[in-house]
Amino acid sequence: MKDSFFADENGFYGDFGGAYIPEILYKCVEDLRRAYLPIMESDEFKAEYRALLRDYVGRPSPLYHARRMSDKYGIKLYLKREDLNHTGAHKINNTVGQILLARKMGKSRIIAETGAGQHGVATATVCALMGMECEVFMGKTDVERQHTNVERMRMLGAKVHPVTTGNMTLSDACSEAIRDWCCHPSDTFYIVGSTMGPHPYPDIVARMQSIISEEIKWQLQEKEGRDYPDCLVACIGGGSNAAGTVYHYVDDSRVRIVLAEAGGSGIDSGRTAATIHRGEPGILHGSKMLVMQTSDGQIEEAFTISAGLDYPGVGPMHCNMAAKGRSEVYAVNDDEAVLAGYELTRMEGIIPAIESAHAVAALGKVTFGPGDVVVLTVSGRGDKDVETYLANKDMAGEYGKF
Ligand SMILES: *Cc1c(COP(=O)(O)O)cnc(C)c1O
Repeated sequence: MKDSFFADENGFYGDFGGAYIPEILYKCVEDLRRAYLPIMESDEFKAEYRALLRDYVGRPSPLYHARRMSDKYGIKLYLKREDLNHTGAHKINNTVGQILLARKMGKSRIIAETGAGQHGVATATVCALMGMECEVFMGKTDVERQHTNVERMRMLGAKVHPVTTGNMTLSDACSEAIRDWCCHPSDTFYIVGSTMGPHPYPDIVARMQSIISEEIKWQLQEKEGRDYPDCLVACIGGGSNAAGTVYHYVDDSRVRIVLAEAGGSGIDSGRTAATIHRGEPGILHGSKMLVMQTSDGQIEEAFTISAGLDYPGVGPMHCNMAAKGRSEVYAVNDDEAVLAGYELTRMEGIIPAIESAHAVAALGKVTFGPGDVVVLTVSGRGDKDVETYLANKDMAGEYGKF
């Protein structure tokens, strides 16, 4: 039997995934599981979703040939510009789709978790668009360090709940959102922000983000006369921009898949978010995945300069792809990411999100064939990270001397 890199009917990707949920959520998750494919495959949904992606999000996002970076690495490098989407990252592809799903299922109240605030902003945005009630759970630590995004969410009409349990970061916000969902199972739709959570969420999010590789296919056909690259590169937190980037290529063995996770201060430093390198199988937020944990199963806090990669787990699709050797996963440390962010800024005039800068740094770790066609997804723009870049410009070598 051929291994599949997609979810089976129970939401398993090899040994990972599934739906490990409290009894009280069983009906909601089961309703969603029954509803999502018929809705997403209906002509009505497709028409509305495509129209919003085009006219509201601003798709297709450009596939840009980065000439100076190509010369530097001896490859033909294309950047998939998710940074140019409305709200500045790939997250809106998913929230636009999930809010349509929520509406079709007759839900009136939207909840979401957020770490850096990017998914919270993308959710608050589509709730404003649809005139729906929106509540966002965010760790108190993140509320303090991502103040601008909190104000954006409030301006958009969302209610932001600071979460004061645990480390008061993303993982705690997810737990709190699940708790809220347990209290309001009938009227509430939980918009999950990455390829994580109980089945069917990882599959829903991967499908919503698959527009990225769908576009790469025809854009490469136009530019290169063939619809596949030699290599795809993306950063990976929960795994949604990476899932979207690889979706239509996972079964194509001509295409290498390179992923960059956040090494923090180094994978052996005790301050890392490199979950594929450091994690062990465990259950977190309703799904079996690789989780950074102590020997007795306590979740370890993730550390990285990048708030969007700051999660102690990683989605089941990517756990399985890494376990089967389909993806090559590199840990990129904070200093390498900062340097790569400055490099892209100076060489192409594009300030990437610090998350996306991890993918750029992976270019220096991979051995490419000469002239390889490489597509790297710039998952978001770096406006939100300017202070982080400035505070760490000592890590940027020559580029930091200004
Ligand atoms: C949230 C975020 C990520 C990480 O999430 P994934 O689900 O792994 O894609 C990466 N880049 C940006 C810009 C983000 O906002």
